[in-house]
Amino acid sequence: MKKVSHDIKVITDRLLRSWVRCRRKAWLDRYGAQEQRLWTPHRTLQLDHQQRSFVAFMPQKPGRGIGACITGKHGVIGLRLKGLGPSGQLLESHPSLLERIQGKSIWGDFSYRPVLGRQGRRVTREHRLSLAINGLLLEHLQGAKVSEGLAICKTKTHLTIEHINLEKDRIQKELKDSLHKLEEDLRFKDPPPITSDRRKCVICSWRGVCNAEAIAEGHLSEVCGIGASRRKILHELGINSLDSLAGFDPETLKKSLRVYGEQHSDIAHQIISQAKAQKNGNIERLDPTKALPELIKAPGVLIYDIESDPDAREDFLHGFVRVEKKLSGGWDLKGAKYHPILLLFEHREKYSWERIKCKMKKYQNWPILHYGETEVLSIYKMAERQGESKEQLKLLQNRFIDIHARLRKHWRIPLNSYGLKSVAQWSGFKWSQPGADGAKALLWWRQWRDAEHQSWSRSNSLRWILQYNQDDCLATWKVAEWLFEQDQNHS
Ligand code: SF4
Repeated sequence: MKKVSHDIKVITDRLLRSWVRCRRKAWLDRYGAQEQRLWTPHRTLQLDHQQRSFVAFMPQKPGRGIGACITGKHGVIGLRLKGLGPSGQLLESHPSLLERIQGKSIWGDFSYRPVLGRQGRRVTREHRLSLAINGLLLEHLQGAKVSEGLAICKTKTHLTIEHINLEKDRIQKELKDSLHKLEEDLRFKDPPPITSDRRKCVICSWRGVCNAEAIAEGHLSEVCGIGASRRKILHELGINSLDSLAGFDPETLKKSLRVYGEQHSDIAHQIISQAKAQKNGNIERLDPTKALPELIKAPGVLIYDIESDPDAREDFLHGFVRVEKKLSGGWDLKGAKYHPILLLFEHREKYSWERIKCKMKKYQNWPILHYGETEVLSIYKMAERQGESKEQLKLLQNRFIDIHARLRKHWRIPLNSYGLKSVAQWSGFKWSQPGADGAKALLWWRQWRDAEHQSWSRSNSLRWILQYNQDDCLATWKVAEWLFEQDQNHS
């Protein structure tokens, strides 16, 4: 990478958060072509959750800006903090919320500490550094030490408040080092390399730019089954691209990987074959038995998909599509029916479970297809909570067929991901709402839940959620149908 004298100007807390997620993201945020950014619902979801946490934490309305600090409001929002960093950098931050606490500041017998809303299960480095930069600049402004910040999280049942000690040497050193490294990265003419942990890219606004570059370069992370640590090992062995992996001898790789552990050497053949499949566009059968024997005599299938809210820890929608087998033997997709079961406030889980049970009973001998393990785990736990017997739980488990697991067991296909979106699109399925995904469905759910009764946007949000869920069921069917056809063609 070439170093140029980029004028860094100011480093913001937002840039620091981006950098913690991915070094390249911070660079692109500053110098990337803004028109290439893709909208992602994650920021909106995060702000929405933060707002809920703040309301639960501080019922009284906070004041705004410096005036609110001077008058000693209980909470303050909309404040812009400026000052110098540990190495003299010009810093700027916008704390989400300040809470008044006991102490002495330039404004009187009180001071403030920063508060942020935490999404996810634990406090991360991103949360710690955000609080640390806010704390540092707040100290300059209020003329009083900021010894801690709060990370708060509202769940369905309670509010968690975690106190983060900002005086610790470790956190101050972490802030200093991170700001220094971020500054260094921003001086380069070219962006840092694509992250080795490509899972981060799914929710990143730069995914369009980076995915295109990764494909064009034949990036190793494009090979399905190669995560960050395996990619690092392959680099050490001199394998730097999809093409070089595809051309490698499997036995030689197996031997070389043995020093890194059996878990790596065992999959040498698999990753080379996957790279070859992706390079040449080949499909390969891995298991000669039928992938979906249950469908041969089934009178029909139910396809099941859930939509979840991870913060509330609830599955808010259970969707079923019913597809009957025609007397002639084919599947009656035109007559397919969608049955959504929404978990509403006024209903308890018991009500949803009764309706799900009723549906499964009505189509007793029909297998239930789903994609990935989430659905079956979720419904199993729900049945357990509702006091179903061990025999019932066993029967329940036996009815569910994970199409993703069957695909992985029986076929190798030329895709960089075996996720539903990727495989169903490859099989020819088109989602009726382009760009929709689980995060968008969650956003629509929250908009629907919070909107005024009968409003236009409320009914639209619900329509979009149901359409998305129905499409996911039909996409699952598309993959199952492909597997079933292969069963017929290769018998
Ligand atoms: S898409 Fe991935 S590699 Fe690119 S900036 Fe975002 S997280 Fe980093």
